[in-house]
Amino acid sequence: MKKIAVLGCTGSIGSQTLDIVRHARDRFSVAALSCGSNAAELAALAEEFDCKLLGIADENKLGELRSAAPDADIYCGDAALETLAACDADIVVIAVVGMIGLRAVLAALDAGKIVALANKESLVAGGALVKRYLERGGEIRPVDSEHSAVWQALQGEKEHKRIILTASGGPFCFADGPLDGVTPEQAVAHPNWRMGKKISVDSATMMNKGLEIIEARWLFDTENIDYVIHPESVVHSMVEFADGSIKAQASFPDMRLPIQYALTYPEHAPREYRPLELPLGLRFLPPDEARFPAPKLAKAAIAAGGSAALTLNAANEAAVRLFLERKIKFTDIINIVSDALDREPNETLDSAASIFSAHKRIYDKIYLGT
Ligand code: NDP
Ligand code: MG
Repeated sequence: MKKIAVLGCTGSIGSQTLDIVRHARDRFSVAALSCGSNAAELAALAEEFDCKLLGIADENKLGELRSAAPDADIYCGDAALETLAACDADIVVIAVVGMIGLRAVLAALDAGKIVALANKESLVAGGALVKRYLERGGEIRPVDSEHSAVWQALQGEKEHKRIILTASGGPFCFADGPLDGVTPEQAVAHPNWRMGKKISVDSATMMNKGLEIIEARWLFDTENIDYVIHPESVVHSMVEFADGSIKAQASFPDMRLPIQYALTYPEHAPREYRPLELPLGLRFLPPDEARFPAPKLAKAAIAAGGSAALTLNAANEAAVRLFLERKIKFTDIINIVSDALDREPNETLDSAASIFSAHKRIYDKIYLGT
């Protein structure tokens, strides 16, 4: 029986993780659950999974959570993530959205945990620091479908030559005309996946692929990473080897597969799934980087090193929030990120404190205009 902590349990990845537990009660139990502000849902999940250790970021919701879960041990504020990440769990699923996830990643690794990592902003902004923590203990298993695909393709392999990530292209891949009138509702309507709002906007701008290229750089220790548009989201990514062989991982698009693999690795445990039906009619198309430059910005940030990827991530988080609040246009998001990369100094940030403070400074400058 594996004990699982699910940080961000009320979101898209968190609830799919709990769905896996729901169907495999003989394999998994739930040691801790946390969310941002959805106290009612958290309390309901705590009851369903008999979990007595809870965290909630929003201090205004503490009273509501206390009344709804009177027997639970409850932690509050951003520090709750760190406490729960170091709890008595075998695997910590980090499914919170945004840079705040880095706090949980560092605390979980510090406690020697296996981290099933969905949160991508943590590796993008703090990849070098996370690697240093990994040298001391703990383990990261990717949950993001592309990185899970690469990880699966690499099983039994010693070396690899090139990683080829696939990208659906998002909702505007085949749209004609300018994108400046795109609304938040249109941007979050992803053709193949049901996800949280932030990653849905990232997919629409293609910044999601940019973040994933940086994520792959840290997970697989290579800068030889390309991407291809694959609108069907059936091949989740590929790895090329020195003899020209390419291994791909494919399945019907369903995040529960990579989540479960991170929980049951090295076993492909049985689950109910929708099989692929042949013929598949798959397309692999070149990206249009003039219209969607985000992956190019991400590659430039990798090449620049230092704090460039942190700047890209902080500017993107702030700009996506402004867009979702209808304060800027869809096309402003990438302009804001590109301006931040041009404007912000490229620093060497060695400590967690310096990383969080640089993130806050850049985020606040864009979101609050300070
Ligand atoms: P959602 O917006 O659906 O869920 C986010 C979760 O984080 C919610 O449970 C939310 O709680 C919680 N949360 C927010 N702030 C805090 C905080 N300060 N402390 C604790 N919990 C917090 O996001 P997704 O599930 O879509 O994405 C999560 C991460 O996984 C992102 O980094 C995303 O890029 C990545 N990812 C997602 C995929 C997907 O298919 N959805 C695929 C691959 C990666 P509340 O409900 O209370 O707000
Ligand atoms: Mg992905």
